[in-house]
Amino acid sequence: EAALADYGKEDKVLVSIRIRPTNATTAWQTTDTIPKSMKLDSQYCKTTTTTPQDFRFDEILTGSDNKPVYNAVARSHVCAAMDGYNAIIFAYGQTASGKTFTLTGDEDQPGIIPRAMKDIFAYIRRTPTREYLLRCSYLEIYNETIHDLLAPPSSSVSQPVQIQGTGNNVILTPLREEVVTSLKSVREVLQRGEGNRRTASTDWNERSSRSHSVFRVVIESRERGSGTDEGGTPSGRTTPGFRPPTPGGPRLQARGGRSVQTSVLSLIDLAGSEKATSDKERTREGKYINTSLLTLGTVIGTLAENSARNKHDHVPFRNSKLTRMLQPSLSGNARISVICTINPDTGAIAESTSTLLFAQRIK
Ligand code: ADP
Ligand code: MG
Repeated sequence: EAALADYGKEDKVLVSIRIRPTNATTAWQTTDTIPKSMKLDSQYCKTTTTTPQDFRFDEILTGSDNKPVYNAVARSHVCAAMDGYNAIIFAYGQTASGKTFTLTGDEDQPGIIPRAMKDIFAYIRRTPTREYLLRCSYLEIYNETIHDLLAPPSSSVSQPVQIQGTGNNVILTPLREEVVTSLKSVREVLQRGEGNRRTASTDWNERSSRSHSVFRVVIESRERGSGTDEGGTPSGRTTPGFRPPTPGGPRLQARGGRSVQTSVLSLIDLAGSEKATSDKERTREGKYINTSLLTLGTVIGTLAENSARNKHDHVPFRNSKLTRMLQPSLSGNARISVICTINPDTGAIAESTSTLLFAQRIK
């Protein structure tokens, strides 16, 4: 499809590695081979392999600057979402490897989420011929239970979000969606969700490393009309009076003679990929996390394989809440970016190796 080529890489799945700076005195050396068949050179900017199949990631990123990371592995996906494609950006890696730094960032180094939202509003301002409606939701998957982070914590616990529908028709209910009209309102939504997430957890560190957090923006747009219907607003603003189509409906819907284009951008901070360490984790929680990360790898790997080789292998979306929830966004023309974050300390080599193997598997 011609339009997709405009977003650069033609591969369905963009897989990148981000190596955080180390504070340790024992980080990788030029001579280290991680894992056995793969070597990341001293500048950490390319891989060389000792096996016959040379393996390449789309990007290997280093340093503390979040801007080049956004430009290399997220920007084209955000643009694709504005043009009507579903897009997903994942951060995968062991706890403390930099997933949240990459997606959320901090005051000095805003991450992918604030940069994406800024780009989205800039895109809307640059496109006065269309009017847009943006709706945000924010949820957490913990022990295979989906909690709406925008609902008050008590109701989120008593009323977990259910997944309904079949195939590419996925309905999440009850789920709050907030219409956002500015970066400020997005920030408020994010802060509210983050606050609820902390309130809901007795042990914040444990909870944040053991759960997936999913921030979604539903983007709807249509050509701007003559201004006589449903209250047109000045160009460059989202239109609160613009009624969204029913969730899970077709991507394009004719309404009042003008078709509505709908797409979803999902930004996902995955649970820590490390192996279970405590007895508690080894039992219930660890099992759920391993299952859902394993399923994610299988699903993305199968989709990439199907797309590259024109195959139709079964994709096990239903094996986890995360992949089932994301099924419509993973299927079809979806654009997927997986950023695998790595801690270069020598003490983390086993987990870094496992992260690199995950990255290989889905590419
Ligand atoms: P995770 O979400 O994977 O558990 P964090 O994003 O919380 O990891 O990162 C752990 C710590 O390392 C945080 O203090 C974070 O600010 C810091 N950090 C992570 N990646 C980078 C980076 N690329 N540059 C500078 N600091 C980083
Ligand atoms: Mg984190």
